Amino acid sequence: MRSLVICALLAANAHGSPIIIKAAHLLDGVSDRARDGVAVAVDGERIVAVAPAGELAAKYPAATVIDLGGATLLPGLIDAHTHVFLDDDVGPGVYDAILLKKSTPYRTIEATANARRALGYGFTSLRDLETEGAMYADVDVKTAIAKGVVPGPRMFVATRALAPTGMYPLRGYSWELTMPIGVQTVDGAESIRKAVREQVSNGADWIKFYADHGVYEGTRDRPVRSIVNFTPAEAAAIVDEAHRLGVKVAAHANGWDGIDSALRAGVDSLEHGQGLTDDLVARMVAQKVAWCPTMLAYAYSEKKLGPNPRSFMMPAHKAAVARAFKRGVRIVFGTDAGAFPWNMNPAAEAKLMVEAGMSPAAVVRSLTSSAGALLDPLCKPGSATCAHSDVGVIAPGKYADLVAVPGDPLADITQLEHVRWVMKAGAVQTP
Ligand SMILES: [Zn+2]
Repeated sequence: MRSLVICALLAANAHGSPIIIKAAHLLDGVSDRARDGVAVAVDGERIVAVAPAGELAAKYPAATVIDLGGATLLPGLIDAHTHVFLDDDVGPGVYDAILLKKSTPYRTIEATANARRALGYGFTSLRDLETEGAMYADVDVKTAIAKGVVPGPRMFVATRALAPTGMYPLRGYSWELTMPIGVQTVDGAESIRKAVREQVSNGADWIKFYADHGVYEGTRDRPVRSIVNFTPAEAAAIVDEAHRLGVKVAAHANGWDGIDSALRAGVDSLEHGQGLTDDLVARMVAQKVAWCPTMLAYAYSEKKLGPNPRSFMMPAHKAAVARAFKRGVRIVFGTDAGAFPWNMNPAAEAKLMVEAGMSPAAVVRSLTSSAGALLDPLCKPGSATCAHSDVGVIAPGKYADLVAVPGDPLADITQLEHVRWVMKAGAVQTP
């Protein structure tokens, strides 16, 4: 397979001629079933046809053919919750080490390496949800990748994230010191609107805010609870200003009370969500809010720290996923990669999702078409046409972002951890 790949890369670069990619099975990111004997024709950076292999060979006789044998071809994977500026932030003192000992240029070098790793795992798009103190450097990483300066996934970036005074400090230092803060501190609607404008003007594709802070309770009988960060007027100002500027909003929320405040504000996606109750699930469905559970980061935390006061989070998390899946919440694959080290493949989240009760087909959609839809630009009410991200689906007109795994992910979801071949925008990325 390797020699074929290299030939294809050369052919595509030298001539820009169409490429036909053949694999035994194809999962298009939408359908629940694989199709056999179907190939994909790529011209430039887009897919131009998906049809029986013989038909495409006749239609494009001059095409270079990449034959992936018995593999399953899928859309490029999408992780909708990452932090390329982090590389393991679990445990005491880790934020201190990051914010006090690493410069932003150094962290940006690390971020490009992490982005490249993500691409190697098969993630051709990332929604990177804040730089944790590295300001707008994610916009630079995105630009460098888009311009081909460094390899990496398509980046959809949130820049600095928003939290109110006192809700994101480095703890335990003298009050006389001015410590760095991992987010943009905002208080009151006016300061919030200014910060959103600033972030969007500096290149934010998404606005992220911390709807709650800390986790204070959670038992078998009582849902996870925390402290809500923003007043209803402040949270509404975040969403209103972002939407006015055409940008979607993601809310970090662990507790039921944080989720409640985020939903009242009208966010587009919810992150973490261990405190989801039946009532909140119903509201998420009604409001069409997407949810990135990010279980892998919490599983990693449990493993690294051992039994701890927050150990009730993982069972609550899995129960929430089961509840949300049954009731039809749009669950989007998001891992919080960076909270765990980038030498772990984020695709391991898929196994946790299946263990929590999701069908393998739904999990495959969660990291392809569902995530792609989340990345679609905001569709303004009353607009005749809405723009699309054109990722997450194998169909004519979409970006030629494709990956291949050796087996069948619908039979064994861990196949997603074994991506062997990656194409982004029509260019083969694997060595
Ligand atoms: Zn995160």
